[in-house]
Amino acid sequence: MRVMKIPYIDLQRQYRSLGQRFEEMFEDIMSKSSFVRGDEVRNFEIAFSGIYEGYSTVSTASGTDALFIVLKCLGIGSGDEVITPAFSWISSSETISLCNAVPVFSDVDEKTYTLDPRDLERRITQRTRGIVIVHLFGQAAHAKEICRIAHERGIVVIEDCAQAHLTMEGGQFAGTFGAASAFSFYPTKNLGAYGDAGCILTANRTLEEKMRRFGNHGALGKDDHAIEGINSRMDSIQASVLLLKLKFLRRWNAQRVAHARLYHELLSGVREVTCPFVRPDTEHTFHIFAIRVERRDALKEFLGQKGIQTIIHYPKSLPNLPAYRRLGHTPHDFPVASRLEQELLSLPIYPELREDEIHYIAGNIKAFYLRG
Ligand SMILES: *Cc1c(COP(=O)(O)O)cnc(C)c1O
Repeated sequence: MRVMKIPYIDLQRQYRSLGQRFEEMFEDIMSKSSFVRGDEVRNFEIAFSGIYEGYSTVSTASGTDALFIVLKCLGIGSGDEVITPAFSWISSSETISLCNAVPVFSDVDEKTYTLDPRDLERRITQRTRGIVIVHLFGQAAHAKEICRIAHERGIVVIEDCAQAHLTMEGGQFAGTFGAASAFSFYPTKNLGAYGDAGCILTANRTLEEKMRRFGNHGALGKDDHAIEGINSRMDSIQASVLLLKLKFLRRWNAQRVAHARLYHELLSGVREVTCPFVRPDTEHTFHIFAIRVERRDALKEFLGQKGIQTIIHYPKSLPNLPAYRRLGHTPHDFPVASRLEQELLSLPIYPELREDEIHYIAGNIKAFYLRG
């Protein structure tokens, strides 16, 4: 086989197809010189809310800020415990600590890699105030079941949708199950800006106003500081990029799903490889296509030699990171998460990836295991 060169993600392919339109929009913003919270930001908020009937969008400077603002404005604070998955990006737990609350990790489901409702139930205490569910990799996170468990006990549910733009569970969008949800528009996400950006989605008007204020120094209008807050605003350049890209989101997600299907087909006969499971009655949006494999590190090395870049999401589950040593966990406390950190390997899956590239990647994975 001829050696190809396939980066894990190639944002330039998308830029090449849309580049000129961005340049025209940027010129317009420069000439107006309205850089922060300009018309584009408001227009993006309206367009994004348009997908989620009855919901409002509060734009933020990043997905991490969005999570922090939600937790803070829900009143999560000192003495509270918030349950969150042991296997995720650190934003979903660090924002709990930032509110002076305690992140309580829960193990993930063996098949979906999202919070395991049974394990979660065991971690609920008198102090549990909230649960941050993460729709990891684009997979819906047992949202309905977890909301039922939470509501019976008066616990609030917050959704981390950073990897789940248009993911669905039971015909309902991820982001519409809890009290509020946080989205990230980091450049590599399914909907990505040209820098950091994020937003919050909520149907609760009172909470919306509080969050809008909190992210803008406590003010809605000029000098109207009802409370203290932070500076977390989306800028006009990012909003203009997102407004244009939003038109393509469904098409791009469908391309990701088609790529996932092809990977599944090509890898189905390989005993050492487990492809992502898609829960019935859900729509996975494949932000990440992580295969679960034997001899992961050797496979990664082999693919690298063949010009295929892969990434490990995540090399350490959260409780096993130095940042959480204070909680005194051992890998035995989270057996599934601790195995996943050794067995998952993420393959390239951006919309612009070509079929011949997927054949090449799958072919090399097969070759690696045939070789023994
Ligand atoms: C990317 C990501 C975030 C944070 O988003 P930023 O915009 O990078 O701050 C939060 N949670 C998860 C699961 C993510 O993947």
